[in-house]
Amino acid sequence: MKKTKLDIFLIAIMIIGLGAVGFLGYQAYQLKKNKINLESELSLTRENFASTTRGLQATIDSIKEELSKTKSERDDFELKYNEERNRLDYLSSQIQGIQGTVGMLEKLKQIDPELLEKYSKVYFLNENYVPEMFIKIDSKYTYNPKEDYLIYERIWPFLENLLTAAENVSTDIEIISAYRSFGKQSELKSSYTFIYGSGANKFSADQGYSEHQLGTTVDLTTSKIGASYLGFEKTPTYQWLLENAYKYGFILSYPENNQYYQFEPWHWRFVGRALADRLHQEGNNFYDLDQREIDKYLISFFD
Ligand SMILES: [Zn+2]
Repeated sequence: MKKTKLDIFLIAIMIIGLGAVGFLGYQAYQLKKNKINLESELSLTRENFASTTRGLQATIDSIKEELSKTKSERDDFELKYNEERNRLDYLSSQIQGIQGTVGMLEKLKQIDPELLEKYSKVYFLNENYVPEMFIKIDSKYTYNPKEDYLIYERIWPFLENLLTAAENVSTDIEIISAYRSFGKQSELKSSYTFIYGSGANKFSADQGYSEHQLGTTVDLTTSKIGASYLGFEKTPTYQWLLENAYKYGFILSYPENNQYYQFEPWHWRFVGRALADRLHQEGNNFYDLDQREIDKYLISFFD
């Protein structure tokens, strides 16, 4: 009986051992099966991945190709665009040049070339010439308050500035003659007993006359000297004018020792600030300058 119990025990152990072996074997079998499955899945995934990669590479290649095509098209376009832009820039600069020229011509059209003309014994202003617009000079600036003194309207602001500047430094200054018409000049002449030469122009004795007919010229005096003009060149007024008149565009037409006409210290002509400034800087006379050189200043006459 004891032996039988032992047998049963051994048998039981064997059964348990067999069971365990069987279980482990089964587990091992399952693991292997899983491994095979995993391997086959992995291989499938690898294949899929490779195929996807190939697809992506093809897409990238085609995009690269597109890009390179687009880039070359863009380069072409840029080249054409630049060419076109350069052409337009050139055209625009041409147009601006033309506009500038047109603007200058328009400006020049508004300025009478006679205003900067040199008048001589043979070249006089036409007897019918009259400035386009006059202004009456304020009588506080004139020698005879009862008389009308006229000046070309566009000159007045410059003359007024000159007179105000002189006034500010207590310079005694009076206008004794301004615009003189051809008729007025003839009258003036006939009141003298001049004997005119047989020259082409009977007014050759008064070269300064044309300048008064322009309406841009004034004769200046002081309250003390008045209409005699005598000794004007010795006054502080004359000295002040020599130093300052150019700033307002006025010059002495016939300075001391000039080659054209008698010295007229009282006779001041407006030639524009740019030209007056140049003559002052160079110590040059208006009548000594070439007419072509003078004409360059017509455009800036009223500036
Ligand atoms: Zn004069």
